[in-house]
Amino acid sequence: MLVRRLRFPKRLSTCSIQASDIHTQHYDVIVVGGGHAGTEAVAAASRVGAKTLLITQKIQTIGALSCNPSLGGVGKGHLVKEIDALDGVMGRAGDWAGVHFSILNRSKGPAVWGPRTQLDRQRYKDFIQSELLSTPRVTILEGSVQDLLLTTADPEKPGRHKVNGIRLAHGGGEIHSRSVVLTTGTFLSGSLFIGQTTSPGGRLADPPSCAGLSHTLKELLGLKVGRLRTGTPPRIIKDTIDFSLTLIRLPDPSPTPFSFMNTHTHCKPEEQLPCYLTHTTPGVERVVKESSHHNSHIQQDAKGPSISHRYCPSIESKVLRFPGRRHQVWLEPEGLTSDLMYPQGLSMTMPPEEQLCLIREIPGLQRAKMSTPGYGVQYDFVCPTQLFPWLQVKSTQGLFLAGQINGTTGYEEAAAQGLWAGVNAGRTSLSKPPVSLSRTQSYIGVLIDDLIGRGVTEPYRMFTSRAEFRTTLRPDNADLRLTLRGFEELGCVSEQRYNEALRVQVSLNDALSALKSIHLSAPRWKDKLGDVNISETKSSLLNGLEVLQYKDVSYQMLASAFPELSSLYLEFSERLKVEAIYRPHCENQKKEIERIQAEESLYLPEDIDYLTLPVSLSQEVREILDSVRPSTLGAAARLSGITPAAIVHLLNYVHKNKHRNQRKIVGVS
Ligand SMILES: Cc1cc2nc3c(=O)[nH]c(=O)nc-3n(C[C@H](O)[C@H](O)[C@H](O)COP(=O)(O)OP(=O)(O)OC[C@H]3O[C@@H](n4cnc5c(N)ncnc54)[C@H](O)[C@@H]3O)c2cc1C
Repeated sequence: MLVRRLRFPKRLSTCSIQASDIHTQHYDVIVVGGGHAGTEAVAAASRVGAKTLLITQKIQTIGALSCNPSLGGVGKGHLVKEIDALDGVMGRAGDWAGVHFSILNRSKGPAVWGPRTQLDRQRYKDFIQSELLSTPRVTILEGSVQDLLLTTADPEKPGRHKVNGIRLAHGGGEIHSRSVVLTTGTFLSGSLFIGQTTSPGGRLADPPSCAGLSHTLKELLGLKVGRLRTGTPPRIIKDTIDFSLTLIRLPDPSPTPFSFMNTHTHCKPEEQLPCYLTHTTPGVERVVKESSHHNSHIQQDAKGPSISHRYCPSIESKVLRFPGRRHQVWLEPEGLTSDLMYPQGLSMTMPPEEQLCLIREIPGLQRAKMSTPGYGVQYDFVCPTQLFPWLQVKSTQGLFLAGQINGTTGYEEAAAQGLWAGVNAGRTSLSKPPVSLSRTQSYIGVLIDDLIGRGVTEPYRMFTSRAEFRTTLRPDNADLRLTLRGFEELGCVSEQRYNEALRVQVSLNDALSALKSIHLSAPRWKDKLGDVNISETKSSLLNGLEVLQYKDVSYQMLASAFPELSSLYLEFSERLKVEAIYRPHCENQKKEIERIQAEESLYLPEDIDYLTLPVSLSQEVREILDSVRPSTLGAAARLSGITPAAIVHLLNYVHKNKHRNQRKIVGVS
C-alpha cells in the first residue's frame, strides 16, 4: 500500500523568485492572484504541461486564509476531496496544517458527511507556498497586474476579443501569454468598512486591485459586473478568555485525512486542539441596536438587499433579523502556537470600541481583549453566466475567471474553480480542447453548472442539497469518480496517484465480487454472524453485499466468518460498508441517467403548460422551460439552469400523459 510521507515545506517568503528575464519570456498561462483559486490554478496549469507564471500582490500572502482558519465541512468537504482526487493541493495542505479534525453530520448517511478541520494558519500557507516552489514549470512574481493586453480575436473561435497577456502596475511592463486566469477574490474595486469608515482595500492591510483591471472588464470587454460583500470577526487574545464558562468540543479521536494519498495527518491525535462553544446574550442585541447609527453596514441593510451577504451573515444582521434568539459562537484555535482565537459567528463591522463592548456581553469573553477588529469588504464580481463550463469568458478568447470573482464565497469553492480554470487555461494554451465536468459526476460540476446556468444574487456556497445525485457523489468515492479521468483524459493527475486509484478500484471490485458470490438464507446468515438483525421474512437467498447493508453488520464480521474475504480487503472495510449501503440507490440513479440519455429525442408536447405542470419543478425551472419551450427532452436537458432531476420528472410526466392520451384515443375510436 502506498503511504505518502508528509514533508516539511520550505518558506516561499524567504526565497522569493527574482525573474530578471521575466518580460522576455512568453508564458502559456498567467495566473493573477495567489489566493485559493490562484494557487490551484497555477498548480493545475503546470500539471497539464503549461509554462505558468503566477503574479500576486504579496508573495507572503500566497495561500492566506482571509477569514476562518478552517477547511471543509458539509458540501465544502466534498469539494476538497474532489480537488484532491484531481491531484490539487488543498487536501494535502489541510492534512499538513489541520489541528482539529472532525467529520460533521455523522448522524446522517455517509454521502453527506462533512470532513472538516481547523487549521494552523501559518502551516497552511507554508505548505501551499512550498508546494508551488517545488512545482515544475511555475514562476512566481510579486507585483500588481494593472490591465489585460488585448489583441485581435481568432475568427475561427467563439468570442469578440482575445487576451494575450497582462500589463504590470507602476510601469512594470508587459508580459505575454496564451491564456490568463483572473483570481482576484475580494480585491476587484474592493472597499473595507468598519463603523462609518470606508477605505479602499481587498483585505485588511492589502490594497484593492488596480482600477484598470475593473475598467477593462466592464468597459472594454463589456462584462456585466455586480457587487457583493462579506465580513470577518475580530480576533481575540486567547489568555483573556475564561474557557470554564464555555462548552468544550473535542476533535475526533482518530483524525481522518482529506487526501486519498495520505494515511494519517501531520498533527497526531493527542496533539489536536479543542474548540469551545458559547452563545450571544440579550446584552449583545442591546449593543447592536445602540451602535446601529455608527454602522454603515447596518444602514445599507436597512436600504434593502441590493448587496447580499446571506452566507456570511454578520452578528448585526443575525441579531436584527432574529431578535430574542441565542446565537452560537464557536471559539476556534488559529494554530498550535498562536495566541489568538477566532470567534466564528461574530463577524461584525461596528466601530472597534463597540465591538469590544459586544464581545464582553458573551459568557467566557467578559474580560476578553481583541487583537484586530472585525471588518466588512465590498467588491465587484463578474456575473458568471458569461462563462463557458470550462470557466473561460464567452466573449474573450484566452481569458478565464475563477474564485470569488465569480460570485462564490469560501476557500473550497474558490480552489475548485481555480483547479478547473487552471486545467482548461493550460489545455487551451497547448491547443488542446477544453473539458467540462457534469453535475452527475462531481460537486465541482454542480458548482460550475449552477454558476454559469443560474448566476448569483448572493455569495454562492456549496451545500449537499445542491447536488441531485448526492448518493453517488460521496466524499469516499471522489477518487474513483475523478482520478482515472484526470489522468487518462485531462492530464492533470500524476502517474503515482493514478496507479493508486487503479489499485483501489481493482481491490474494491474484487471485494464486491467476492461478497456477491456468497449466497445464504437469512437464518444461515444469522448462524454465521451471531445475533444480527437480519429480517427472517426474506425467503430468498441474500448475498454478502446485501447483508452488509444491514446496520449491525460490518465487513470485519463478514471477513471473520468467511476466510476468503479476510485480510486482502480489510483496508477497505469502511468503503465497502458505504458502497453496500448506497449501491441499490446509485444503481437506480445510474439507470435514470441512462434513461435520460436514451430518451434525448423524445418530443415534448407543444401545448404543455410548464407554469402549472403538476410535477415537482422549481419556479425557476418552470420559467426557463416556459420561455424557451424546447422541442425535445435532450434540448431541455441542455438548457442552462435545468437540473437532471427536473428532466427525470418531465420525462415521467410525458410518458404518463402519452399513455393517458393513447387510452383516450382508443376509447373514442
Ligand atoms: C474580510 C473577508 C471575510 C471573509 N469571510 C468569509 C466567510 O465568512 N466565509 C467564507 O467562506 N469565506 C469568507 N471569505 C472569503 C474567502 O476568503 C474567499 O472566498 C477566498 O479566499 C476566495 O479565494 P480567491 O482565491 O478567489 O481570492 P483571495 O483568497 O481573496 O485571493 C485573491 C488574491 O489575488 C491577489 N490580487 C488581487 N488583485 C490583484 C492584482 N491586480 N494583481 C496581482 N494580484 C492580485 C490578492 O493579493 C490575493 O492574493 C472572506 C474574505 C474576506 C476578505
